Amino acid sequence: MIDQEKEQNSKYEFLKFIADGMLGSLARKLRIYGFDVLYNAEILDENILAIAKNDNRIILTSDRALHEKAILNNLKSVLLSEDNDEDRMVNIFKRVGVRPELNPINSRCPLCNGNIEEVDKDNVKNIPESVLKKHDHFYSCVVCGKIYWVGSHWLRLKKFSEKIIQRLRQA
Ligand SMILES: [Zn+2]
Repeated sequence: MIDQEKEQNSKYEFLKFIADGMLGSLARKLRIYGFDVLYNAEILDENILAIAKNDNRIILTSDRALHEKAILNNLKSVLLSEDNDEDRMVNIFKRVGVRPELNPINSRCPLCNGNIEEVDKDNVKNIPESVLKKHDHFYSCVVCGKIYWVGSHWLRLKKFSEKIIQRLRQA
């Protein structure tokens, strides 16, 4: 089952993004979906353009001037004029033609964009006893080491993603 799910998601691996400095919460959500999203709140427009070009990344921006510069330079860019992440994600997924589902095994670390792997519960440290009792599956970022589990935050995001899928089906 897990292999199958991984396979299904691997078709999105060609989709790599770089988000402008205003889109932090959007970047974190896309990473949880499993998309490779570079984000740095301090990044300069020139650097976004250079990285998008060198690394073949799609620019996500709410800045029309940056978007137009990207298009002039033959880069891929999605202009996001929406004021919330749900609308932004519907727009992005429509543009790139995907209907991604949330699956913890495919997630990337929302904090650092690192890959996530499942870890043995016995080796998980510094997690409250109540969480350890309630959950059997834990995931660790291979880059920063942060531990994740399918808690209330995940369940909220799952609802959020179901709304997005519904809107994409209607579109
Ligand atoms: Zn991390």
